[in-house]
Amino acid sequence: MVRLRGLMLAGVVTASMVAPAMASAAGPSIPEKRANATLSKMTMDEKIGLLSGPMTAFVAPAKRPPNVPIGAGYIEPVPRLGVPLLAETDASLGVSNLMDMRKGDVATALPSGLSLAASWDPELAHAGGAMIGGEARAKGFNVMLAGGVNLVRDPRGGRNFEYLGEDPLLAGTMAGSQIAGVQSNNIIATIKHFALNNQETGRNVASAEMDEAAMRESDLLAFQIGIEKGDPGAVMCAYNRVGGIYACENPFLLNDVLRRDWGFKGFVMSDWGAVHSTNAITAGLDQQSGYQLDRKHYFGSLLKQAVADGQIPQAAVDMSARRILRAIYAHGLADHPLSTGLSIDYDADAVVAQRAAERGIVLLRNEGGILPLASNVRTILIVGGNADIGVPGGGGSSQVNPVGGLKRVVPGAKSGPAATFARRGYGGVAPVAALQAELPGAQIKFVDGKDIAAAIAAARSVDMVVVFAEKFSTEAVDNDDLSLGEGQDELIDAVAGANPRTVVVLETGNAVAMPWLNKVPAILSAWYGGQRGGTAIARVLTGAVNPSGHLPVTFPVSRAQLPNPVLPGSDAAPADKETRAVYGLQAGTKPFDIRYPEGSDVGYRWFDSKGFKPLYAFGHGLSYTRFRYSGLKVTAGRTLKVRFAVTNSGDRAGADVPQVYVVRPGKAKRLIGWGKPDLKPGETGMVSVVADPRILADFDSKARVWVVRPEDVRIEVATSATEPVLKATARLKAATIKP
Ligand code: BGC
Repeated sequence: MVRLRGLMLAGVVTASMVAPAMASAAGPSIPEKRANATLSKMTMDEKIGLLSGPMTAFVAPAKRPPNVPIGAGYIEPVPRLGVPLLAETDASLGVSNLMDMRKGDVATALPSGLSLAASWDPELAHAGGAMIGGEARAKGFNVMLAGGVNLVRDPRGGRNFEYLGEDPLLAGTMAGSQIAGVQSNNIIATIKHFALNNQETGRNVASAEMDEAAMRESDLLAFQIGIEKGDPGAVMCAYNRVGGIYACENPFLLNDVLRRDWGFKGFVMSDWGAVHSTNAITAGLDQQSGYQLDRKHYFGSLLKQAVADGQIPQAAVDMSARRILRAIYAHGLADHPLSTGLSIDYDADAVVAQRAAERGIVLLRNEGGILPLASNVRTILIVGGNADIGVPGGGGSSQVNPVGGLKRVVPGAKSGPAATFARRGYGGVAPVAALQAELPGAQIKFVDGKDIAAAIAAARSVDMVVVFAEKFSTEAVDNDDLSLGEGQDELIDAVAGANPRTVVVLETGNAVAMPWLNKVPAILSAWYGGQRGGTAIARVLTGAVNPSGHLPVTFPVSRAQLPNPVLPGSDAAPADKETRAVYGLQAGTKPFDIRYPEGSDVGYRWFDSKGFKPLYAFGHGLSYTRFRYSGLKVTAGRTLKVRFAVTNSGDRAGADVPQVYVVRPGKAKRLIGWGKPDLKPGETGMVSVVADPRILADFDSKARVWVVRPEDVRIEVATSATEPVLKATARLKAATIKP
């Protein structure tokens, strides 16, 4: 028996995790002292200068300070005091280059956030963060808008691909690791979009309506865990309203929850075009980003005037400037000056991207062990998905121009708010070439699938067919439904009818429905695979890599199973002049409310509480080997300690993701931890999970505490949210935990 390296103690609240928030108990920390010293020497104009910045693309080169790379935006430096320029770039999947604003510049593309979350591997998230942060530094950026952690509440959400799934513990843990990795480069990372920005439809006008306990137990908890684990320098507040109040001027979110309760010491920057008033500063906003996108430059001369008129206290400006300075010192920006054009080892970085893609691919179905491809397979037909060109990626501000460039680009939206910037891009290693490299002796033919009859004819004469099915998702618009669209469901049905040895590789930004499921023996979910996605897919198909990804989201059978079968606001009237006057230039529709019937029972918890059977459950993922669980031991008290053994009882090395769920009386089940042991055949490893007590608790919003109740609970060690393998019961002790 071996002890596993990197045991996952998911959700343990330790002193070191909360330390960043509690520095003040022993007097000001060094970054705070440095911030105070600098602040005391600053003029009012210099302070105000820190509190806003333009969107770089809208500033003429002659007006930009020297060495500002074109990115999302920047904040002017104060050279006389050594306060550096803040050069901001998107995002979580790599240094983005939206619409090729830095002509021809490329960067290593990580697979999508959902792929990363599907790895359930925080060390991998750290490595990915460190890699993209290193590239950001090398390109002259010191603020990375990386750390998207909005929960996936609806599989139509346009930006779900950027995020980390539907569970707050999984998403928060992965976000925290990614942020820590990014910041290991002496740059600031930005957890976003705070909060409840779970859909794109009406994102600038909609109000998310949810009671406080539900928010604290779900979306806010994901941010809280991400902040505790990652200590980001910045939080980005969201476009939408929460409880009727814009997230970027929402004192409950920014002052009460983030600062008072969580002790967040960093600064709050707005999303681009999310500021609606100068008074936002007293509600907790520190920095207006990309101010040209707002109706006014609220945190510029208007703020200065408001202070002069006595409407805004000078102390508010000082406090915001101090928070920004503190983050600059705490994260090493002042001590590590920017330089541009440093060399990047793209080959080494591609290895990180490939490993991320390989560990995130989920084998959903493998009837009769049709995968991995048999070594004697001679003829393979690959159909569709632009698999001869590259792998698809999501659209919007997170879009990376991968190394080698985008090989095909098509508009991502004909009309609506995404029409200007959403582009479907294909790049990285093409799956067809990658599979040929893995199987040099096989004859591989490609058809694009547009002509179904031709695809059927070609499918009849080969040993195996691999259909690549893709679905585009982008910032600013949601998907209409769960279908693959563009005739792909019909194509798969027809091809699988012609050749029963058909494998489907899904390259999507969301869960999709699979009306053809029973005809197709094997299905892989490969998400958006990034720089080496094609290689990763080929290696999983051939068995060079044993798949170990598990779903970070539930795959529903159909829309009818969703909490909101009709997407909120999908029927809202388009914005008119008046709406834009009130809600800003980016308002897409007239305002509406978004209600979430599931409350904190997001994703698999909703399915559990309703007794719905999903198409594929949260946590599901197959392997080419088998794992056996045994020896479950539970120690209960104010929290739960769970220990068990995992044995690889098959004949190939592989990694498993055993999950631990708690079932409380009358409540939907909840993930309390997991492991990701890599095991050789016959090898056994121990997995230990210590539950974060907040996951066992209810939030009492009147008393403002988490309450763990003295009750009997069931513990399940499971292969997915619906497949428990070992069970035990335990009794919790009463406890309260500060918010
Ligand atoms: C997005 C943010 C992004 C910002 C800057 C906004 O449209 O919502 O995620 O960081 O633009 O590009």
